[in-house]
Amino acid sequence: MSKRKQSQSTKLIEGGRRKEWRRKLVNVPVERASTIIFDNVAELEESEPGLGGYRYGLQGTATHWALAEALTGLEPGAAGTALYSSGLAAITTPLLALLSPADELLAPDNVYGPTRRFCDTILKRLGIATLYYDPLIGGQISKLIGEKTRAILLESPGSQTMEVQDVPGICAIARERGIVTLLDNTWATPLLFPAIAGGVDVAILAATKYVGGHADLMLGAATATAQYYQLIQTASWHLGHAVSADDAWLGSRGLRTMGVRLRQHGDSALKIAHWLKERPEVGLVLHPALPDCPGHETWARDFKGSSGLFSFELKVDRETFVNALELFGIGYSWGGYESLVLPVDPHRTVTNAPAPNLVRLHIGLEDVEDLIADLAVALDQAGRSP
Ligand SMILES: *Cc1c(COP(=O)(O)O)cnc(C)c1O
Repeated sequence: MSKRKQSQSTKLIEGGRRKEWRRKLVNVPVERASTIIFDNVAELEESEPGLGGYRYGLQGTATHWALAEALTGLEPGAAGTALYSSGLAAITTPLLALLSPADELLAPDNVYGPTRRFCDTILKRLGIATLYYDPLIGGQISKLIGEKTRAILLESPGSQTMEVQDVPGICAIARERGIVTLLDNTWATPLLFPAIAGGVDVAILAATKYVGGHADLMLGAATATAQYYQLIQTASWHLGHAVSADDAWLGSRGLRTMGVRLRQHGDSALKIAHWLKERPEVGLVLHPALPDCPGHETWARDFKGSSGLFSFELKVDRETFVNALELFGIGYSWGGYESLVLPVDPHRTVTNAPAPNLVRLHIGLEDVEDLIADLAVALDQAGRSP
């Protein structure tokens, strides 16, 4: 094989498909297992968990190793990936692994709602305080770092309001001070923002979203540097986290098409964002590639593109608009092939949302002109509503 460094698109296809795991097949098969049977006592005693090491179902089979290895390969500089049964578990477990009583965590004020609830309940009960910060704080974060600060959580763009954070800037400061950084990179995936190369220690994906890509599984992944990977993986086993082999397999299947899907999601979403911007019923369009979005310049500096999720301010009746849409399902989550709409009301404690009356769209793989026609009808209808 040539020494040429593979591009991300090729890694999506090749990643995890070791010959010894897939044998004569194209894909590594679904290996469902709790018990692994050893040939003798010595083999049992020598078994080591990890990639290629059959030991017990909790530590996974080739189906899991293939997905973990593929995800690690997408993050240059990473040492390994721990898999979880949801994106939320991929956030909460590394935090539990890294934080101790009396430590302090810094988290952005627009952090994913369930992450905030975890911080405000379970971490708080363990004596770990969370200090929320302005997602646009950038280098000023150094002013919030104190004696007890142990970890900085980042999410960029942030949930619902899409502010883009200065991830490399914040991570450089954190590394200098010996503070671990964790980034929820679900929106960009390593294709649009390779997080570890950007200075992040732990890159987290709700693989439920673009990795799965078909709204039919729950899955999470935490990819980390050598300094933190083993610590996080071991803690995950101590806590008993396991992923079903079927879901891990679906994750690998999703990865193969994630590049082309993401390009289509991104192109259509951008087109719709620009179209919405021209409509009188629409105020701010919070799409990282548009100047209305706080942190837009940072997005332009750091990201290789945009994905399918964004929000906008509606100046007409929101419920009428959302209910009038026919091609957009009303529901939580996103990242599947189908379009979704959600009225969002951000919960904040130290900053204000950029705009009121927000609607979040996930742009799916339907024909973009059909989606625009649907949005036009709904805007017209909401505009007529008192
Ligand atoms: C959906 C989501 C999560 C959680 O993922 P689940 O698999 O639903 O638990 C975490 N972060 C972000 C930004 C998300 O959108």
